[in-house]
Amino acid sequence: MSIQQWAFPLARRFVAGESLEEALAVVRQLNAEGLRATIDLLGEDVHEGRDADRTRNDHLALIEGLARSPADTNLSLKLSALGLGFEPDVASARLGTILTAAQAALRDPFVRVDMEGSALVPATLAIVTRAFSAYRTTGPVLQAYLHRTPDDVAAMIALGARVRLCKGAYKEPEAIALQSMHAIRVQYLALATKLLSGGAYPAIATHDPLLIEAVKRIARDRDVGADAFEFQLLYGVRPDLQRALVAAGYRVRVYVPFGTRWAQYFRRRITERRENLIFAIRSLFGR
Ligand SMILES: Cc1cc2nc3c(=O)[nH]c(=O)nc-3n(C[C@H](O)[C@H](O)[C@H](O)COP(=O)(O)OP(=O)(O)OC[C@H]3O[C@@H](n4cnc5c(N)ncnc54)[C@H](O)[C@@H]3O)c2cc1C
Repeated sequence: MSIQQWAFPLARRFVAGESLEEALAVVRQLNAEGLRATIDLLGEDVHEGRDADRTRNDHLALIEGLARSPADTNLSLKLSALGLGFEPDVASARLGTILTAAQAALRDPFVRVDMEGSALVPATLAIVTRAFSAYRTTGPVLQAYLHRTPDDVAAMIALGARVRLCKGAYKEPEAIALQSMHAIRVQYLALATKLLSGGAYPAIATHDPLLIEAVKRIARDRDVGADAFEFQLLYGVRPDLQRALVAAGYRVRVYVPFGTRWAQYFRRRITERRENLIFAIRSLFGR
């Protein structure tokens, strides 16, 4: 048995499955409970053109599979898997092919572009900005911990692109990113307030109860309807909170990652929060 096969039962707490069928079964269950989904065929940090082409083709096959399913889901992907790191123009063209296919086939053709390490942020935003002008059905993730993000939020509000706001999952130096949880929360709320006031259907991506409660208050105080934004949470994290938000009348979208290339994603989940490893181990025993 390979390490990959051995470790997958652990990763399963956060990864919906290795196949599309398994991921769709998870999405159907979420939909039945009033949750929307954004499905992510895992993969990142590709270093060769033929691997980036394979990522594009895998996404085209994914879109065909989704088109045959009644699942209420859109897509998320990472540009480093499409070759952003070494051939940004070709990566941009690959994204265009995916956006065209999604628009032709899917009920919800929106494709969210995840944000990666800070070295990739300028190129990612340049590509998403260009793609948005042509397709409208895409939007970036912005990370509240980066010093540059207030300017990026302003730019995306001016552009009219949908933003997913998260704290940021990559280790970044002090010169580039806020380090303390308090400072990150303060910046997150300032940016969420801007997006809720002037942004296009923002996605509030966090499991942080302090932020979620504060965002509810901001929305209430500013008369932002529950249909004008959505909360987003990760598959396997606070499923109780996901359902409680739906029961309280909020829109909730769950990020549902799947595929065989889950190792880096799983590593980020357990390094950002030690308890996640405990949850994964408990899930092995059905608890
Ligand atoms: C939908 C979605 C998409 C994302 N996309 C990106 C992306 O494109 N790029 C990127 O860099 N990052 C992304 N992230 C990750 C994000 O940047 C954070 O690393 C991650 O969400 C952890 O921050 P947090 O605010 O959720 O919770 P934390 O800051 O880790 O914790 C704050 C509090 O939240 C609660 N909490 C958090 N996790 C758990 C848990 N497992 N179980 C119980 N309680 C918990 C606890 O009360 C904790 O004290 C995404 C996150 C989400 C939800």
